[in-house]
Amino acid sequence: MGRRKLVVGNWKMNGLKAQLGEVEAIGALAVRCPAVEVGLCLPATLIAPARAVNGAAFIGAQDCHMNQSGAHTGCLSAAMLAEAGASWTIVGHSERRQDQGETDADVAAKAVAGKAAGLKVILCVGESLDVRDAGDAESVVAAQLLASLPEGAAADWLAIAYEPIWAIGTGRIPTMEAVEAMHRALRAALTTKIGAQAEGMRILYGGSMNGDNAAELMAIADVDGGLVGGASLTAEKFAPVIEAAA
Ligand code: PEP
Repeated sequence: MGRRKLVVGNWKMNGLKAQLGEVEAIGALAVRCPAVEVGLCLPATLIAPARAVNGAAFIGAQDCHMNQSGAHTGCLSAAMLAEAGASWTIVGHSERRQDQGETDADVAAKAVAGKAAGLKVILCVGESLDVRDAGDAESVVAAQLLASLPEGAAADWLAIAYEPIWAIGTGRIPTMEAVEAMHRALRAALTTKIGAQAEGMRILYGGSMNGDNAAELMAIADVDGGLVGGASLTAEKFAPVIEAAA
């Protein structure tokens, strides 16, 4: 109830300064759709230049380190990302959980680090195809969410993204009934941990969301927006997703 839709592009390892025109055009879309909170989580190299052109879309990062500083070659702290101009960060994306072996505890610590630096945080969870096929998706993802949930989780700085791993970049999505059941289960799980805060916390759907399916997905009761990969890379593709949330 009363949750403002949140639609966030995740550019992953895509984007050079040549693509700043798309950032600018997406920022202009956000100006036209004030009912929707629009953002772009960009490669860290684009955060500062994007802030110069971004209009009404916020600029975020895709990960942050759990420590504030130290001997972590190649890593970026949340404070560094905030200083560059990020106001949000993603944590726990399945590509990082898989490629970098990030655990639920790591993800919770990264969320805490993000909050401490003044960032808002999108925490990703989602099941593999094996888990989905075994019929365990809701209990497994709810457990993953509770294990990844940071201390002090609250709706004013944390959003959840449910992203079935098998739907990311594949063009496949769960049935609308499955999405609805998952989002309901995740809100119920949140309620057991954070009580009334769960009602205000936004739960996004992510995984092959695009202009063709966004309206149907956004209409589901507990879907409060989207985390969008491929369809966020150009303003032309992203526009119908943002408009579907308006
Ligand atoms: C993602 O990786 O967060 C994602 C949702 O990607 P895509 O939309 O390309 O499936």
